Amino acid sequence: MVPPTETATRPARKRKTRGEGQWALGYREPLNANERSKKDDNPLNVRQRIETIYAHRGFDSIDPADLRGRFRWWGLYTQRAPGIPGARTGTIEPEELDDRYFMMRVRIDGGALTTEQLRTIGEVSQTYARDTADITDRQNVQLHWVRVEDVPTIWQKLEGVGLSTTEACGDCPRVVLGSPVAGIAADEIIDATPAIEQIREKFIGDRSLSNLPRKFKSAISGSPRWDTVPEINDIALVGVVHPEHGPGFDLWVGGGLSTNPKLAVRLGAWVPLDEVAEVWHAVVQIFRDYGYRRLRHRARLKFLVNDWGPEKFRQVLEDEYLGRELVDGPAPETPTEARDHIGVHPQKDGNFYVGVKSPAGRVSGSTLVEVAKAAERAGSRRVRTTVEQNLLVLDVPESEVDTLVADLAGLGLQADPSPWRRSVMACTGIEFCKLAIVETKERAIALVHDLEERLADIQGDIDNPVTINLNGCPNACARTQVADIGLKGQMVPDGNGNQVEGFQVHLGGGLGLDAGFGRKIRGHKVTSAELGDYVERLVRRYLEQRTEGERFAQ
Ligand code: SF4
Repeated sequence: MVPPTETATRPARKRKTRGEGQWALGYREPLNANERSKKDDNPLNVRQRIETIYAHRGFDSIDPADLRGRFRWWGLYTQRAPGIPGARTGTIEPEELDDRYFMMRVRIDGGALTTEQLRTIGEVSQTYARDTADITDRQNVQLHWVRVEDVPTIWQKLEGVGLSTTEACGDCPRVVLGSPVAGIAADEIIDATPAIEQIREKFIGDRSLSNLPRKFKSAISGSPRWDTVPEINDIALVGVVHPEHGPGFDLWVGGGLSTNPKLAVRLGAWVPLDEVAEVWHAVVQIFRDYGYRRLRHRARLKFLVNDWGPEKFRQVLEDEYLGRELVDGPAPETPTEARDHIGVHPQKDGNFYVGVKSPAGRVSGSTLVEVAKAAERAGSRRVRTTVEQNLLVLDVPESEVDTLVADLAGLGLQADPSPWRRSVMACTGIEFCKLAIVETKERAIALVHDLEERLADIQGDIDNPVTINLNGCPNACARTQVADIGLKGQMVPDGNGNQVEGFQVHLGGGLGLDAGFGRKIRGHKVTSAELGDYVERLVRRYLEQRTEGERFAQ
């Protein structure tokens, strides 16, 4: 293992003409603005300034380097000032875009919540966040309209029930995705919960990992359904049975979307449950020490993995960080089952879990409080979030299932949604995100209603829901390139010579059996207003022309 303080003494290897900012190779200067800010002060230190200074003196007292940089390590971003059109995004000064309020991301590792925790998030939202709450496609919950004055009290309430916002954003290990049905699913290969808990307890908030080149995304699931989108995480541990050693995990690295999408690659190594945290820690350290820091757009782990290849990556992992060889292991089988856990399903203990669809992730604090109450009335104390922006209630006795399903439907959360409701996701978009070019959430919700009416006659013919992911800009937070219909927000011509909000279309992306990135179809740019027409045309043509069993992505 190579702690950051020792890397400077490591003999520098043969220099290329120009380094990429890899610490382990001695390239520590020059620093770009982000690297400078992290070097000037460990970003985790900003919590103390929030508690002792900013919460008392208010928004105007906040140091800009904290406001637009270090606050993220505590799950805080300024939200977009209202009324600035998307066409101006990227052309104006940051302070013009900053609202005086914050988005706060609550970290939910493994998507695992008790009903008490869910109720607390809901109550915090009602009191301090204008009743806003979005379930993200990384199993977190985001609140909006948070004032810096209220942040310490919110932390106190969240931490009082075992929740936190620590490293929910920033160049650090973000939330660890986990199977929402870990420990209860009859088809589970192995329950990853102990490893996720160990990582959270030992390494989240660890200062030796709080200055990574960029964000680090993790997915650890023992479900055969690959329900943590392992293909597009920096590290993924995927449940697999080793013929000699039994159930464990296959190790993948280097996945990620955004502007240079890459699918994670297998290292061919099998990791037992009790070594997952150690191996995860070693991979994070490789990223810290060898990751590219010079150019921010090349700073994700996928670029290093791409340059090294899986063999070298595994070699460095074993030789320099673990000090031992990993066990070779088989590849897991590609899943054929739906990953989203929607509907009513039996658990292995005889109870049931109920998976419901939120409208493009948008709920409210009040809804979360009511979900907690409904779950408790049904005898449950456990709720889960999913990477499709869904909610699951676990441990429901059979006798309570129908009542719970009806209660949740009354809250707008359906266990038997239409194919369109089930398969539409949206990122935050222009309502709150400073990088956005177009509106997404309300557009997605309106699109669902529109498609339910337009395509009511063919609803029964949709055996594999067509996934539609709306993104407000090229950053692909709602996974543009791996949807059947991926929509990337941009300004487009409306036919009258005006530039209006719309989307560049990517078609035929997918994960699992159809893993691959959607093709950007040059001529397919659609205005937001015409989206319903466009999707209807596309889906009807697919149904007319498909061969038997052919999925949209094929
Ligand atoms: Fe914001 Fe773009 Fe991410 Fe959407 S995709 S949340 S607009 S950065």
